[in-house]
Amino acid sequence: MRLILFGSPGVGKGTQAKIFSKNFNIPHISTGDILRKAVKDQTELGKKAGELMAQGELVPDYLMIALIKDVLTSDECKNGFILDGFPRTTIQAEALDQLFTQIGIDNTILINITAKENEIIKRLNNRRACKECGNIFNLQDIEGLKKCPACNAENSFYLRNDDKEEVIKNRLDIFNSTTKPVLGYYTAKGRVITVNGFDTIENVTKMIVESLKEKNLYH
Ligand code: AMP
Repeated sequence: MRLILFGSPGVGKGTQAKIFSKNFNIPHISTGDILRKAVKDQTELGKKAGELMAQGELVPDYLMIALIKDVLTSDECKNGFILDGFPRTTIQAEALDQLFTQIGIDNTILINITAKENEIIKRLNNRRACKECGNIFNLQDIEGLKKCPACNAENSFYLRNDDKEEVIKNRLDIFNSTTKPVLGYYTAKGRVITVNGFDTIENVTKMIVESLKEKNLYH
């Protein structure tokens, strides 16, 4: 199975990606997670990306395309993958298509998760990340907890710089102006499934599974 999870920041791409990655035993490739690790480790990529990410800006296409080529052609991805956070520009979408043609992949499906902007702002304001494992939680789910439920790290919750209110607005503007057009690119190819993300995690998963089954793509 090869899925691209698409939608605005905070719509639940990462949450659904983790569920499908576990169910199908294929890797969850989150470009945001890869970049955050690079920033933490202070690699060359991390040094270039850190400031842009903190402002909610996109990391340049040439860096992202090189990164995703390395990951998707690695052994880890040979049986499938769940891509989360890429492509975010039409240039990235075209590069991804070229890569898929080169490596003989023609069965990728884009899952478009939608939600209203006011709901997204509320969600992003209300989420906290674990600085050790990167997992994201709703504030109400971790209230009073001293340890991360995913990795047991102590006192590790923090508000991501790019989840701060002033940066959220910029991320949503960039999504609307630069990332949304990617959808048209995939719709033209008839490989898009759209689901409403303004529902429980379980229901969103169920809707994705049902849509994949309808298209005979769930196996
Ligand atoms: P995410 O965790 O997917 O919301 O990504 C966090 C940040 O990483 C984004 O706001 C961008 O600064 C950067 N980023 C992640 N994926 C991409 C991409 N495909 N193209 C450009 N920048 C990206």
